Amino acid sequence: MTFAAFSFNNAISKALAELNYDSPTDIQQQAIPVILKKHDLMARAQTGTGKTAAFALPILQHLIEQNKVDPALRVLVLTPTRELAKQVHKSFTEYSQYTPLQSALAYGGVSAKEQAARIAQGVDILVATPGRLIDHLQSGIVSLDDVQYLVFDEADRMLDMGFKDEIDKILTHLSVKRQTLLFSATFNDEVYKVAKKLLTDAECIEI
Ligand code: AMP
Repeated sequence: MTFAAFSFNNAISKALAELNYDSPTDIQQQAIPVILKKHDLMARAQTGTGKTAAFALPILQHLIEQNKVDPALRVLVLTPTRELAKQVHKSFTEYSQYTPLQSALAYGGVSAKEQAARIAQGVDILVATPGRLIDHLQSGIVSLDDVQYLVFDEADRMLDMGFKDEIDKILTHLSVKRQTLLFSATFNDEVYKVAKKLLTDAECIEI
């Protein structure tokens, strides 16, 4: 199987060719069609399996299809750590380099000022850790009113790190009319509980 099977926009195909991505990995083969069909998804996949592209590529395809002129924050990716946030942001930037779409980061431990300035320029995708995102929501720097895609990356780790209350708070800012994708290295009771709250008619993939 090749990426041609997904009929991605030329801008995405060009980026994939440049990155030498020839064929989709297992998680990509299974998750991309589900996300393209606009279903919610719960997926068990470890880091290193290509899970970032599995959610980033179909989301970018949807954003391109919307053909919006001005940026609007339509995608929120939540990660447990700043390292993962940086990696996910880097992947979005690489995959969208031939599109006008903009991605920004929000994580703690550094000054909020630069992040705020970047977000204020207008972004389509925000990759954030929960604590800093709440700071930005409280200071009015970020609004989640237009978010259509919510991704939970490494959900098990996010819960292990005690981010449950933050997640609940963030959810109160999000529209129920959204597509939600939950990725986790392991499925346990806590993950299922959050999934039940977040996802609607979700498909489940385990690789
Ligand atoms: P991830 O699991 O998302 O952290 O990805 C692990 C690594 O695999 C990253 O360096 C990606 O750039 C790379 N990668 C993801 N998908 C593919 C693919 N289909 N072909 C080649 N490399 C890939």
